[in-house]
Amino acid sequence: MADPKSFDALVIGAGFSGLYMLIKLREIGLSAQVVEAGSGVGGTWYWNRYPGARCDISSIEYSYSFDPELEQEWTWKERYSAQPDILEYLEHVADRYDLIDGITFDTRVTAARWNEEMARWLVETDKGGSFDVQFLILATGALSEPKLPDLPGLENFSGPILNTARWDDSVDLTGKRVCHFGVGSSGIQTVAEIGKIVEELTVFSRTPSFAVPCSNPPLTAEQSAAAKADYPAMRELQRHSALSFATLPKEGGAKVCEPAEREKRLESAWTESTFSLLLEFDDILFDDESNALVTEFAQRKLTQTITDPEKARKLIPQDVQLGGRRLCAEIGFYDAINQDNVTVVDVREEPVTNITTDAVVTDKGSYPADVIIFATGFDACVGAIKAIDIRGKGGQSIREEWANGPRAYLGLAVEGFPNMFTITGPGSPSVLSNVVVSIEQHVEWIARCLADMRERGAAVIEAEAQAEEAWLEHVDEVARPTIFPKANSWYMGHTRDGKRVFMPYVGGVGAYREKCDAVAAAGYEGFTLGVAP
Ligand code: FAD
Ligand code: NAP
Repeated sequence: MADPKSFDALVIGAGFSGLYMLIKLREIGLSAQVVEAGSGVGGTWYWNRYPGARCDISSIEYSYSFDPELEQEWTWKERYSAQPDILEYLEHVADRYDLIDGITFDTRVTAARWNEEMARWLVETDKGGSFDVQFLILATGALSEPKLPDLPGLENFSGPILNTARWDDSVDLTGKRVCHFGVGSSGIQTVAEIGKIVEELTVFSRTPSFAVPCSNPPLTAEQSAAAKADYPAMRELQRHSALSFATLPKEGGAKVCEPAEREKRLESAWTESTFSLLLEFDDILFDDESNALVTEFAQRKLTQTITDPEKARKLIPQDVQLGGRRLCAEIGFYDAINQDNVTVVDVREEPVTNITTDAVVTDKGSYPADVIIFATGFDACVGAIKAIDIRGKGGQSIREEWANGPRAYLGLAVEGFPNMFTITGPGSPSVLSNVVVSIEQHVEWIARCLADMRERGAAVIEAEAQAEEAWLEHVDEVARPTIFPKANSWYMGHTRDGKRVFMPYVGGVGAYREKCDAVAAAGYEGFTLGVAP
C-alpha cells in the first residue's frame, strides 16, 4: 500500500454537505480532501436519477444561502426542481469554488481507525489508497445507503432489476411489464412517470404514505426576481424557524377552529405546497385530536382522487397520523394509479412468495415482469456511517456502538470517536428539516470549532459521555409529546435499551441552532479539548 496522504481533514461525501465543508475548510486555512464513491459531485442528486426525481421543498428555499452572489447568479426554472437541475446547480457550485481538484472520485472509504498516540485518523479506501488526517468529517448523507428487500427467488429473475437510488437509465421501460416496489416519496415520483410509458405496471405497497398534490409551474422572471430580492429575509426565517421553512405554522389549533372554517382552510392548504397541511394549524404535530381531523380530511381527499375503491383501500393510509411518516408530494401519481393497466398489491395481505424468471408471485397470484424496480428506501441516518468500519478509542467500532441505536452529542460528534464529526447526524434536525439549512448550520459550526481549536492550541476534541447521554434524553423527551414516535416510519427503526429510538431532533431548527451556538460560546461545553500528544 502506498504511503498515506496527509491532510488536516478528510471529508467523506461530495453532496450538499461535503462541497460546502470543503469550501469552509479551505476558508479557515486547513488542507482538506473529499473522497466520494460516485463519479461526480451531487450526492443524493447524483445517485437518484429515477424518472420524476425532484425536490419537494421549493428550490428557492432548498439551496445554499452562504453566498449572496451565488443566490443572485443562479436562477431556478421550476418551483420544485427536477434532479438534473439540482445536479447542474451542485456541479456549478463545484466549478465556481474550484472544488473538483480537492475531490477523489470513484473511491469508497471502507475503514477509518483512530491512532491514539498520533491523535490522527488513518483512513482506507477500496482503491487501496489511504489518508492520514487529523479530522474526519462524515458528509455521508442521512439518505444515501439504499435498503433493498430480500425477496425469495429474486436471483432467478431474468430481466433488469432497478433501484431508484442507483438508477440505470440505459434500461428503456417503454412498453415493458414492470413490477414496482415501494410507495414512499421516491416510489410515488417514479410511478407517476413510468406509468406514462409502460405496458403494464404492478405497484407493490407495504406501508403507504400520504401524498399531497404538488403544483409545479415554471418560475416566471418576476417570481425569480422577487425571490432574489427577498433572499436575506427568507433565509433568516428559515434559520430560526422550527422546521427551517420560511413559512411558519399558522397560530391556533385545528380542533378549536370552527368546522366550516377549518374545512375551507384545509381545502386551500391541500394544493398550496407539500407541507402546507402541516403548517395550517400549529398543533397538528402535537395534538392527537387535531391531527385526527386533518388526517381524516386527507383520507377523504384521497378517496375522491383514487377512482377504484380497492386501489384506494390499499393506498390510503389508515393507521398512520398525517405527518408521522414523511409527507410525499405527488405530480401524477394517482393519475397513474387510476389507469387500467396499473394494479396495486398490498404485500401485507398478499405477501410475495417467489420471483421467477419473468414474474412476481404472491400467495394470491402471479404478476408478469420484464423489469423489477425497488423504491424501498434507505437505511436512514446511520446506514452510510455503519457501512464504514470506523474504529475509535481502544479500537471500539461504531457499528457495535450503534448496534442498539445511534448515539451522538448534538448529532455532531460521538463519544469515543475523537476528532470525528457527522454532518446531519442522528440527534440533529437533519431529515426533519429543509436539509440544506441544517447542513449549512452543521458545516459552519464544525468550521468554527476547528478554527477555535487552532486558536486555543487544542488538537483533539471529543464529546463527553455525560453530555451525549443528556442530549439523547433531550432528543427523546422533545419527541415524546409529538406524533412522530407513534408512527411506523424510517425516522424510527432502531432499538436502544428496549425502546425504539426516534432519530432526528424535533425540538426545532432554530432552538437547535441556539443550543449549538451556546455550546461553542461556552468553550465547547460537553466536549473535552486536548493538546497534541
Ligand atoms: P448526500 O447527498 O446523500 O451525499 C452523501 C455522499 O456521500 C454520496 O454521494 C455518497 O456516495 C457519499 N458516500 C457515502 N459513504 C461513502 C463512503 N464510504 N465513501 C465515499 N463516499 C461515500 N431533502 C430536503 O430537505 N428536501 C428535499 O426535497 C429532498 N429531496 C430528496 C429527494 C431524494 C430522492 C432523496 C433520496 C433525498 C432527498 N432529500 C431532500 C434529502 C437529501 O438527501 C438532502 O437534502 C441532501 O441532499 C443531503 O446531502 P448530503 O451531502 O448530506 O448527503
Ligand atoms: P421510503 O419513504 O422509506 O419508502 C420506501 C417504501 O418502500 C416504504 O413504504 C416501505 O414500506 C416500502 N417497502 C420496503 N420494502 C418493501 C417490500 N418488500 N415490499 C413492498 N414495499 C416495501 O423511501 P423513499 O421513498 O426513498 O424516501 C425516503 C426519503 O427520501 C423520503 O422520506 C424523503 O425524505 C426523501 N425523498 C424526498 C423526495 C422528494 O420528493 N423530495 C423524493 C424521494 C425521497 P415500509 O414503510 O413498511 O418499510
